[in-house]
Amino acid sequence: MGELNRRNFLKTLGVAGATISGIPANKLLAQSKSDLSEDRMGVLVDTTVCIGCRRCEWACKTAHDIPAGNLEDYSDESVFENMRRPANDAYTVVNRYENPADPRSPLNVKVQCMHCDHPACVSACIVGAFSKEENGAVIWDTDMCIGCRYCMVACPFQVPTFDYDKAIQPNIHKCDFCFERTKEGLLPACVEICPVEAITYGRRRNLIEVAEKRIELYPDRYVNKIYGFTEVGGTSWMYLSSRNFEELDFPKLGDKPAPGVSESIQHGIFAYFVPPIALYALLGGIMWISKNKDNKGEGKE
Ligand code: SF4
Ligand code: SF4
Ligand code: SF4
Repeated sequence: MGELNRRNFLKTLGVAGATISGIPANKLLAQSKSDLSEDRMGVLVDTTVCIGCRRCEWACKTAHDIPAGNLEDYSDESVFENMRRPANDAYTVVNRYENPADPRSPLNVKVQCMHCDHPACVSACIVGAFSKEENGAVIWDTDMCIGCRYCMVACPFQVPTFDYDKAIQPNIHKCDFCFERTKEGLLPACVEICPVEAITYGRRRNLIEVAEKRIELYPDRYVNKIYGFTEVGGTSWMYLSSRNFEELDFPKLGDKPAPGVSESIQHGIFAYFVPPIALYALLGGIMWISKNKDNKGEGKE
């Protein structure tokens, strides 16, 4: 199959998969792996293909109404002098690493939420603002968020970020797997814009087959590992690389789902610190007062 046809095939496969699976709104809070849809979607990031153009950063911001500036400005490579992390105004960033095997071809690593199969953020959230959707996306409800930031503590990839300047009206930020786009049958914005097929959207199980095939065909090009295949029980976003993943700042994690840790945080709080009803009441009260105050302020204006 030609490169373009293969690309179209995989992209079509991705959109069709999302449409067939229906992407229903029923949420899968802290479910066991056996409850996850076999047809859930994922993305395979091939760091050996990524050229570091950062068009995905621009597309992601544009799709989420974050001021993105001019696309041409993203060719400025001075940003690679510092390692960056996802932020309130950048749900994905691309970092650059040396490639000892080929110094002229550095490795570029796109970073965003991994959309874990067993998300620690979901089980850590005491009000159920986070959810794992059937299509694989981990999303959250801004209106439900009370700003406790347990999700930030629980996430093994340190992904969620927080509006500290709006601490009374909390808002968490992270990649939402372009949930609004994919439920309409569109590709995630970053996947759609990538000019070299470094990021491929499709059913997770198909992507694993694609990744295994690439490793088998090009053993000199890849380390024999798909990052995200088993880490913390598996993630929707998975990576291929020519360098050990720890050297690319991927955390070394076990196969055991991380929610066990976050559930311990919750259980500890509930058992030894404050009963949940009291905690909800306190945080809910703060939210209510804050929103009321804000509404009155807007009325005056
Ligand atoms: S990477 Fe972090 S924020 Fe994303 S789903 Fe996993 S635990 Fe949640
Ligand atoms: S899937 Fe959507 S939200 Fe996530 S990094 Fe890509 S463009 Fe951004
Ligand atoms: S758009 Fe594609 S090639 Fe460009 S930086 Fe993003 S993932 Fe890499």
